[in-house]
Amino acid sequence: MQYVRCIRCNGYMYRERVYTYMGTLDVSVCINCGNVVDDVILFNRLIMPLKLEGLMSRK
Ligand SMILES: [Zn+2]
Repeated sequence: MQYVRCIRCNGYMYRERVYTYMGTLDVSVCINCGNVVDDVILFNRLIMPLKLEGLMSRK
């Protein structure tokens, strides 16, 4: 079992399974500040600058 630290407050995060329209998703929830992190959010944050760049160059 791997424990994740909250990027906001460095608090302990527990794993939780949520159900979305895309299917089940394992997320980490901070017991301290309630910050929710999942792989999709992390992925979106990584590709967001690229997405915005593409939108701006299209207009
Ligand atoms: Zn936190």
